[in-house]
Amino acid sequence: MRFLITAGPTREPIDPVRFISNRSSGKMGYALAEAAIEGGHEVALVSGPVCIEAPRGVELARVTTADEMADAVQTRINRGCDALIMCAAVADFKPREVSAAKIRKRDGIAEIELIPTRDILSSVVLPRDHRTIVCGFSAESESLEENAVMKLREKRCDFICANDITRMDTGFDANENELTLFFRDGSKRHFPRAPKIELAREIIKICIDIAEKR
Ligand code: C5P
Repeated sequence: MRFLITAGPTREPIDPVRFISNRSSGKMGYALAEAAIEGGHEVALVSGPVCIEAPRGVELARVTTADEMADAVQTRINRGCDALIMCAAVADFKPREVSAAKIRKRDGIAEIELIPTRDILSSVVLPRDHRTIVCGFSAESESLEENAVMKLREKRCDFICANDITRMDTGFDANENELTLFFRDGSKRHFPRAPKIELAREIIKICIDIAEKR
């Protein structure tokens, strides 16, 4: 299968030295890429700025902003992809205007007007045959199930992997995670705390199962 995986945060510039971003080490997305490679699949990895190396055999596209990530994802969907896994922590807002010069402290605290970034999952154009499997991620601090199920529907995912970010031992920067997967048919599956690579293998397996049934 051909997997298209996004990972890491995006950065939305304020001026040449400052940006707005999201917390994300990229470890879960890179683990997904590794698990798919292990399984003998083709992998394109669209990654925001992270400090980890891409697994061998992956086609890596480095991007910075949400707009760049959206373009890189669409280009690769157009080239052909069987499963899209949007693991990236895309920034939800960006400054309306980017200052060409560094904003000076002595000029006082700058007021920055924020506008929403493009929602990549909701706006990508998928092939008309509706065969592409779409998996989203959802990091929640409250009402995990309610929010994840809402995103699953709004973002037209086959399933969404939700994690509780109030837990300090899993999630951000950690090598382990705990996930609940919500599916389009209303079912759910809980995966207790485990190394991200093991959870990644399960997610890749689920994509293959869905593809086989389609
Ligand atoms: O940020 P949010 O919780 O809505 O993210 C849920 C899912 O949507 C994730 O899979 C994320 O990669 C994706 N997303 C996106 N474009 C955005 C924001 C989030 O594709 N601008």
